[in-house]
Amino acid sequence: MTLDGFSAVVDPATTGNEMYRFVRELYPLCRSITGNGVRKTLDEIKTHIPITVHEIPSGIQVLDWTVPKEWNIEGAYIKNLNGDKIVDFVNSNLHVVGYSVPVKQTISLEELKGHLFVDPEHPDWVPFRASYYKANWGFCLSHNQLMSLTDDEYEVCIDSSLQAGFLTYGEYYLPGECSDEVLISAHICHPSLANDNLSGIAVVTFIAKLLRNFPLHYSYRFLFIPSTIGSISWLALNEQHLSKIKHGLVIACVGDPGKFTYKKTRQAETEIDHAISHTLRHSGRQYDIEDFSPYGYDERQFCSPGFDLPVGCFMRTPYGKYPEYHTSADNLDFVRPECLAESLVQCLLALAVLEDKEIDVNQKPKGEPQLGKRGLYRGYPNGGVDDLALLWVLNLSDGRHSLLEIAERAALPFPVIKKSTDALLSCGLLRKTSNHRTGHTVDGV
Ligand code: ZN
Repeated sequence: MTLDGFSAVVDPATTGNEMYRFVRELYPLCRSITGNGVRKTLDEIKTHIPITVHEIPSGIQVLDWTVPKEWNIEGAYIKNLNGDKIVDFVNSNLHVVGYSVPVKQTISLEELKGHLFVDPEHPDWVPFRASYYKANWGFCLSHNQLMSLTDDEYEVCIDSSLQAGFLTYGEYYLPGECSDEVLISAHICHPSLANDNLSGIAVVTFIAKLLRNFPLHYSYRFLFIPSTIGSISWLALNEQHLSKIKHGLVIACVGDPGKFTYKKTRQAETEIDHAISHTLRHSGRQYDIEDFSPYGYDERQFCSPGFDLPVGCFMRTPYGKYPEYHTSADNLDFVRPECLAESLVQCLLALAVLEDKEIDVNQKPKGEPQLGKRGLYRGYPNGGVDDLALLWVLNLSDGRHSLLEIAERAALPFPVIKKSTDALLSCGLLRKTSNHRTGHTVDGV
């Protein structure tokens, strides 16, 4: 069974629950752009798919950047004069600014306030902050916690280390019949944030897990990388290999109940842009399609002008467009199993379109062929084949139109066109000329 038949083997409810359980397991880990939280996250991904873990030493030059020191943390707190821990890393890893340098001292409230971050608009929420490339330390807490600080002095402790080590990322290569590749990437660098990070990891992991069950035309390369420095490192190390990448997706923020959002590739109008636009148009759901902008996730590196890879970004509500974004409210209640499942299905539908680019030729192009005598005309038991789709496929199967182009022209969903095509192929009215426009001729027509 080819990928277009995935809906026969993927039960969205079951898979949604599995992905949600995976998000829940990953949630407590303290991830950053380097360190043991990333390694543990990759270990969890390994329980689903056989990724290869790469370790890039600190100090290595990658494009215009340098791989930073590795950051790890054991604990952190703020204690009042009574010795009570009023902010404690044990309760939430968001309490510590990512990449904080170690600190242990007693300081005045005034001085401490220069190292505290809050979100006054949402006084119960703890914001997420990091300072990767500028040595600093700090705590994030709720605005209400900040308001309760009345002592003159506080003891602060951040038991972290910032040392020469490694940048760690995961990669999984799933070979298909062709060495041309589809690149699918998720970032793995956020601590306890469910939608902005874990939802993307879960959907990408499960895309890989499911694709393993199907014969594939393309080879697929899945990346689990820290944002920015991870994609820059991967691009620097794999520059000679990039011409193989024909399509790509960055997947992030896909577990919330918001509408789907697709950000196009820098080139726009690439095949992945058309495939996603088509499947969203026929999804029966609300969606937005945005033009490329050089801000966001790792698509900004993949689509930098020196690479300009055809990589788009698939999301539900985009970064920064939901109030829970980068706060403690982006938690396990904010993402839902059914939303993860819907996102997974949309991605699989688009990949099925990319996989199936056959071009066929109508064997009776002069006049309409008589469908009735082949059991395909209205009123005959036609097995659910759409009449209008049959006529569109016959009309546009002139050896020049792909199935997606026919589906677009007919304004019908790709699977409907595919089903009609299969029916016409099986009764000999169509002959397959190629699976992909890039060569791969089936019978030399
Ligand atoms: Zn983020």
